[in-house]
Amino acid sequence: MSFEGFPVEVSPIYEGQRIRKEDMYVEFGGPSVDRKFELVLAASMEEVEDGAVKIIGPDLTELKEGGSYPLGILIRVAGAKVEKDLEPVIERRIHMYTNYVEGMMHLNQRYDIWIRISKKSFKKGLTSLKWWGLALIRLFKAEMPFIEKMEVNFITDPEKVKEWYQKALQIYEARDARARTIRDEDVDMFYGCVLCQSFAPQHVCVISPNRVSLCGAMNWFDARAAASVDPKGPNFPIPKGKCLDPIKGEYEGVNEVVAKRSMGAVKRVFLYSMFQYPHTSCGCFECIAFYIPEVDGVGFVHRGFRGPTVNGLPFSTMAAQTGGGIQTEGFLGVGIEYFRSPKFFQADGGWARVVWMPSELKERVKDAIPPELYDKIATEKDAKTIDELKKFLMEKGHPLGIKLKEMEAAVAPPPEKPVEAVPAVPTAVPSVAGIEVTGIPVSAVPTAGGGMKIILKGAKITVKKLIVKKVEASKKVEKK
Ligand code: SF4
Ligand code: ZN
Repeated sequence: MSFEGFPVEVSPIYEGQRIRKEDMYVEFGGPSVDRKFELVLAASMEEVEDGAVKIIGPDLTELKEGGSYPLGILIRVAGAKVEKDLEPVIERRIHMYTNYVEGMMHLNQRYDIWIRISKKSFKKGLTSLKWWGLALIRLFKAEMPFIEKMEVNFITDPEKVKEWYQKALQIYEARDARARTIRDEDVDMFYGCVLCQSFAPQHVCVISPNRVSLCGAMNWFDARAAASVDPKGPNFPIPKGKCLDPIKGEYEGVNEVVAKRSMGAVKRVFLYSMFQYPHTSCGCFECIAFYIPEVDGVGFVHRGFRGPTVNGLPFSTMAAQTGGGIQTEGFLGVGIEYFRSPKFFQADGGWARVVWMPSELKERVKDAIPPELYDKIATEKDAKTIDELKKFLMEKGHPLGIKLKEMEAAVAPPPEKPVEAVPAVPTAVPSVAGIEVTGIPVSAVPTAGGGMKIILKGAKITVKKLIVKKVEASKKVEKK
């Protein structure tokens, strides 16, 4: 494909480029900007001005260098085969194709986009958003030939972004709501996506009716439409095959296809669990689920939450641990719509296992939280540390708080009497790779099964006196 006349190169070799703050000319969206979105709408042939790039508001040269600005990307597409189901599929590719432009970085999706343009590329002549739009039109038309007409609108006028932002949110919600009408049991086919393999080579998204993609931008209907219209593209059908475990969500067909598409790196996947064989996470997850061993519960944090979470780590630190396309027990990237799934962490206890989430996220998924648990799930306002969390859960009577209380009563040593030995109780709780319980030489973790797990991490055991006694055989017999 030729990009002759363009001031910068446009090629897949630039995918994965990162632009640091000091190297950026300007940025759009991102954590410091409240309103931003990208939206693709299917339109009639008459409604689309093919090849047009419109800039509604100031262009790059009119913006102050180093600034962060609101942005709406509104793309209209038309064609005989273009249907509504394809809107999210096309929308998801904005990420990939923008990253082809030399000196441009695009992160995330939907209402959460973050774009940077480098100083270097601005100096080379990328001084108008027009170039970005033209590159998108060329790439989309070449890669998705069913798009017959396309126009790109960049909205930079803050008032207009505000107006469209609300409309975009409603459209995302309507797409998600539609997918809530079917269940995994109702279909024979799931769908896969490997779009993110460009930076997470082993990552395969498995999209089922009850498990939206972790980027949140692709539900089962969308993936199905993409696989049918572009069979050579990154979306493909996954015949679900025999169900090996309905609770964990393990399917023979899923295992086979994921093994093939991950080049053998991932052999088993549990769709409804974050333990043992969790789904892989690339990097664009809307939320991270993280195991909290001290209370045997699960916490969540969404991308927009800036502070440290209850385990002391912010989203960014956990994202590095979670992403990359590997299976990480105890850390899982999920889409926000998954909170509304009837299979939500089904194998791990579902909502009864959830102990902490930022208040903003809790508000967003309020409708999905069982009413009896709503007040029992802590936010940053209730608990900033694990100790505060334990206290909160016990006070509020959270199912795990009740267990904690029972456990504390069971392991509390009688006063004045030294603890002689702590019995090791084998339990069914999964081991959690990568989680360190530091500063607590001995920590007892209650398990879902009612037992407990004793973790001795980095502890030194000193024995003051060792008495070796010969047990006489006759006595042993006597005892029996
Ligand atoms: Fe596709 Fe998954 Fe990446 Fe979303 S996160 S673009 S569904 S691979
Ligand atoms: Zn991704």
